Amino acid sequence: MQIDIITVLPEMFEGFLSESIVGRARKQGLVEINIHNLRDYTKDKHNRVDDYPFGGGSGMIMQIQPIADCIKSLQDKLMEDKGESYDAIIYTSPDGKQFNQPMANELSQLKNIIILCGHYKGIDHRIREKLITHEVSIGDYVLSGGELPAAVMTDAIVRVIPGAIGDSQAALDDCFQDNLLAPPIYTRPAHYEGFGDVPEILLCGDPKKIREWELQMAMERTRRLRPDLLSE
Ligand code: SAH
Repeated sequence: MQIDIITVLPEMFEGFLSESIVGRARKQGLVEINIHNLRDYTKDKHNRVDDYPFGGGSGMIMQIQPIADCIKSLQDKLMEDKGESYDAIIYTSPDGKQFNQPMANELSQLKNIIILCGHYKGIDHRIREKLITHEVSIGDYVLSGGELPAAVMTDAIVRVIPGAIGDSQAALDDCFQDNLLAPPIYTRPAHYEGFGDVPEILLCGDPKKIREWELQMAMERTRRLRPDLLSE
C-alpha cells in the first residue's frame, strides 16, 4: 500500500513514521508513506500557500494552485512509476464523515491513497468539489491542522494491514472489531500486593474456556460502557 500525505508541516510526521508498528511496517515494505511539503508546489514568489477569504472575515484560506499542482504531480508520478491511479483522495475536515474502525479496515484494502492536511481556516471549497473523494473527521472538535488526523488515520490503517502486527490475531482482538470492546487484560505477576489476583480462569490452561470468558467479558463491558455498539 502507498500513502501520500500533503502538508505544510512535514516535520510533524518525523517521529511518528519511524516508530512502533508504522515504522516496522514501512521497513518490512508493507506500506510506503511519503510526506510532501505543499510549499514545494507553490508558484508564489514568497512561498505562500494561503490567501485572504473572499467576502472578508478573519483567518487565511489555502489556495487552489499549490494543492491542485501537488495532487496532479503525485498522480502523474504514480502513473509513470506503477501505471496506477489513486483509489482515494482524502481531505481531513471536522465536517467530514467520522473516522472509525470499519473505515480504517476499508481504507487499508486500497492500494494508493492521498491524505491532504488542511491548515489555517481550511482549503478553497472548489478543491473539495473537484478533487477530493473522501472527507474524513476524527471527531467533533477542531484542531489547528490536519496533521494529527492524518497520523491517526495512517496508524489505524497500517496496523490492520496483514503482517503489520507480529501476532496477526492481535489486531482482530482489538476494540471495535466485531463491534465489541476488548476484554480486560493482565500480565505477570498473578498476585500483586495491594492489587490482588488475576481472574483465576486465565490460569486454567484451557484456551477454549478462556476465549469464552473473554467473549463474555467483552459483551459485558460493551453493554455497560458502549451499548450503542450493540445496536449497530
Ligand atoms: N474552519 C474550519 C476548521 C479549520 S481547522 C471549520 O470550521 O471546519 C484547520 C484544519 O485542521 C482543517 O482544514 C482540517 O484539515 C484540520 N482539522 C481540524 N479539526 C479536524 C478534525 N476534527 N478532523 C479532521 N481534520 C481536522
